[in-house]
Amino acid sequence: MKVMKFGGTSVGKPERMHEVARLVSGGKEKKIVVLSALSGTTNALVEIGQSAARFNREQAQEQINKLSDHYHTFIRQLLKTEVSQQMALGIIREHFEFLSIILRISFSESLNKDILAQGELLSTKLFSVYLEEQGIAHVLLPALEFMSIDAEDEPQLDQIRNRLTPLLAKYSDTDLFITQGYICRNAKGEVDNLKRGGSDYTASLVAAAVQASVCEIWTDIDGMHNNDPRIVKKTIPVEQLSFDEAAELAYFGAKILHPTCIWPAQQQNVPVKLLNTMQPSAAGTVIQKTASSSGVKAIAAKDGIIAINIKSSRMLLAYGFLRKIFEVFEKYKTSIDMVTTSEVAVSVTIDSGSNLKKILRELEPFGITEVEEDQTIVSIVGNEIAETEDVLGKIFEALSHVPVRMVSYGGSKHNVSILIPSAYKIKTLQSLNKGLFGLE
Ligand code: ASP
Ligand code: MG
Repeated sequence: MKVMKFGGTSVGKPERMHEVARLVSGGKEKKIVVLSALSGTTNALVEIGQSAARFNREQAQEQINKLSDHYHTFIRQLLKTEVSQQMALGIIREHFEFLSIILRISFSESLNKDILAQGELLSTKLFSVYLEEQGIAHVLLPALEFMSIDAEDEPQLDQIRNRLTPLLAKYSDTDLFITQGYICRNAKGEVDNLKRGGSDYTASLVAAAVQASVCEIWTDIDGMHNNDPRIVKKTIPVEQLSFDEAAELAYFGAKILHPTCIWPAQQQNVPVKLLNTMQPSAAGTVIQKTASSSGVKAIAAKDGIIAINIKSSRMLLAYGFLRKIFEVFEKYKTSIDMVTTSEVAVSVTIDSGSNLKKILRELEPFGITEVEEDQTIVSIVGNEIAETEDVLGKIFEALSHVPVRMVSYGGSKHNVSILIPSAYKIKTLQSLNKGLFGLE
């Protein structure tokens, strides 16, 4: 069994959806295909939810009508026969009527989750109609029957497996299954989701649950690149990464893969392949247990970082100081990315300022705090990079004109991270591309 996940842009145009159908049909192995909503849909649904939350029904209805028009145009190009057109029209009607009805019910967060779920429900059902029209045998598996999260919003891999296994066994002659990414049920049994971009997570969880031979993530670039192609001119695809390397890259800003999606595949040792729908025969990137080689593989950058420095003479020779500081961040569910300490000061970085004021107030008793916003973490990732000769030398040489604020080295063997003011990001990525990869 293999899992294939297609993102919003891969299904966002009728001709792209046709291409997805070609990619998933044929071949010997059984497949579970996970689809995102058509590109733009989830954003539109978020806006509809926001209008509903403000009780602006007219605006919400306008937004619903606009989205509905988009789907009507979409199916006209997606489908050929009158029978399938009628089926698709029925599906569109059902889901958009549901959205309109929701407007009349008093708004709540759980209702909002229902609104957000419509995108994946629509994309999979319309894709199923197209497959039907093409005579491609398949079964549509409702994700809401097996995907679940607990009260802490954490996916329940064991339960997912326990529900999915008999469901698949019921259709033992079927070779092709289609299901929704992103959506799930929560601890109360309500419709919920795995957060924005969560379809990758669904794919990885499903792949882990069924012990798939591979979890393929299909997007519109040929795998993970060694640097951000939007910022540096010359980048090269990375052929192979270990799970640890991929996790560091995804977490530190490489946009291609959702960071949470690594652990389920890693836990069950299912290789993840990043492939390109525009160039299906390209090698892409394989993420698996062991790294093929050591040395620098890629650079990623994460913006919107806030650095907090806490200086206190009381820290001198004291123990328990770091714990007390970390507890403040824990209390406000704010995760720390980088830490550096000296005998009398500690610097940490966070990527969310939503509780910054409260955190700073609680840090006051520990010393003087200083905050620097608009910082960027640049991560240089590669297997055993920390032990690779010359890497540090090359990094610092490349950065001789960049005001580096923090350096994190030695926490992981596969990562060296630096913190810089965001204004220096372009310069930093370009200099590192040259210094580490010899690419302009
Ligand atoms: N449709 C959802 C989103 O846009 C999930 C996904 O695409 O992965 O966030
Ligand atoms: Mg997406």
